[in-house]
Amino acid sequence: MQLPPGLAAYVHQAVEMSLLAVGFFLLALLVKGARAVADGRAAAAETKRNLVLYVMDSLTVGPALAMASSAVYTIMHAPGAVYAGAVVWDKIGPVGTLFAAVFVCDFLGYWNHRLFHTSVLWPSHAIHHSDTRMTWFTLVRMHPFDRLGTLIDLIGMILLGLPDWAVVTAVLVRHYWGHLIHADLPWTLGKLDWIFISPAMHRWHHAREYRGSGVNFATVFSVFDRAFGTFYAPGVCDQPTGVQEEIAPGLTGAYLHPVRTWAARLKDRAVQPAVTAP
Ligand SMILES: [Zn+2]
Ligand SMILES: [Zn+2]
Repeated sequence: MQLPPGLAAYVHQAVEMSLLAVGFFLLALLVKGARAVADGRAAAAETKRNLVLYVMDSLTVGPALAMASSAVYTIMHAPGAVYAGAVVWDKIGPVGTLFAAVFVCDFLGYWNHRLFHTSVLWPSHAIHHSDTRMTWFTLVRMHPFDRLGTLIDLIGMILLGLPDWAVVTAVLVRHYWGHLIHADLPWTLGKLDWIFISPAMHRWHHAREYRGSGVNFATVFSVFDRAFGTFYAPGVCDQPTGVQEEIAPGLTGAYLHPVRTWAARLKDRAVQPAVTAP
């Protein structure tokens, strides 16, 4: 029986997530032994919260992102449209093109991630950081506003005229590397930390206290953090993760958090006593 394309995509997503869950659990067992089971149990409540956000994202934000990026794609590939990048990618061949796609995507991701750490946008990104029991699945803990970052990455690659296969592969590379760096694994990559982001490095990014926050913004290449002064790799992260602000429980609490925070800020500003000239 042939499933309708929309439904088939959801089945595919469910199978992919189940396989990742099994794979990361086996990896945790291998690395941490019986503690993997205890850690998994301790993370169950946060994982449930992540699952709800993920399902909602798949039903609403995901399709909207697909539509927006396909609109940009259609414009870029309209008859007569000329985009200089295509010539470059033809010349440098598939390996160079794929490397460039991942590199460009990660560069865009680095900067839009930094943007979400500014005081204005932080209230929406705080949802991603609010996981106190990080696992590979923390990657999907996203407020819909945060997903604007994904759209920027996609549009950037499309505007550069990167071939479809390179865009899709770059997204997949960052997606799976993203799951790996969120995994509850006490892993650095040794000397390779100077090139790639490790699970330990991204955990420092999620550290609740100031010491670890504001560092390691990239997903794949730590070279961006090195170049822009946000590289931090002192070893395995020993700090608790999460955020210092209160976020109301449940899906509504997460979704409304940025709106509530922005409204409260505006209200505070409105009640500030007017400064009168002496
Ligand atoms: Zn962040
Ligand atoms: Zn993260």
